[in-house]
Amino acid sequence: MHRFFVSPDQIEGARVVLSAPQAHQVARVLRLRPGDPIGILDGSGAECAAVLEAVSPARAVARLQEWHLCPAEPRTHLALGLGLLKGEKMEWAIQKVTEVGASRILPVACARSVVRLEEERAAGKVRRWQQIAQEAAEQCRRGRVPQVAAPLSWPALLDHAAGADVTLLADEQEATPLAEALRTALPPRPRDPTQPARVLLLIGPEGGFTPEETTAARAVGAIPVSLGPRILRAETAAVVGAALLLHLLEE
Ligand code: SAM
Repeated sequence: MHRFFVSPDQIEGARVVLSAPQAHQVARVLRLRPGDPIGILDGSGAECAAVLEAVSPARAVARLQEWHLCPAEPRTHLALGLGLLKGEKMEWAIQKVTEVGASRILPVACARSVVRLEEERAAGKVRRWQQIAQEAAEQCRRGRVPQVAAPLSWPALLDHAAGADVTLLADEQEATPLAEALRTALPPRPRDPTQPARVLLLIGPEGGFTPEETTAARAVGAIPVSLGPRILRAETAAVVGAALLLHLLEE
């Protein structure tokens, strides 16, 4: 069943009016017809079964049935600080960590990032990255779309540590396994379901973190962790780190 994220102003009582791009996709691409079922997501983690009532390339309306919490949406809030990567690697990493369950993606301009993004180019990139995250969230049946931030400086990224229960810095020169650091840093399960864990995971760019970046991260309480004895590409480390974390947190 095809699923669509909608904004609150698209919901009118027991009906939802899809946006123009969504109507075009329903009518022209998916060739759905009145009576076909679709899924509607409000972006807060809730999903609603719906039935199409009217379909045209310009306008599509569906009747809402019952809302329920999206079982595929993790409770853990995983924010991923990811050193800016070149071209498709960044897009691939954003798509995959969305599928894995990251809640927020914080691109960061590291000293050893190969790519440099000036302001106007960055705005276009963030729009594209956010679209990739939305499409991946729809495809993998998530209840929320991860928010992709505009590229941050390293100090600005580290400010996010204040809002996390634990900040982990993936470091290929570190020996402490991720699982051990997590066991020490987070209270044992079962955690209060109304207080899901908030984790910030930092992944370096192609050239890795500089000693200054690592020192600054430790100064805000970041715990260096190993993702294993092999050196992973940055985009691979982002996916492996996010997947291991959410698995260890039974998500
Ligand atoms: N210094 C690396 C090298 O010698 O090739 C380059 C950095 S690696 C390509 C990119 C990032 O992935 C690192 O900054 C780190 O955050 C993460 N990473 C890769 N392998 C890792 C591992 N085994 N343990 C922890 N982090 C790892």
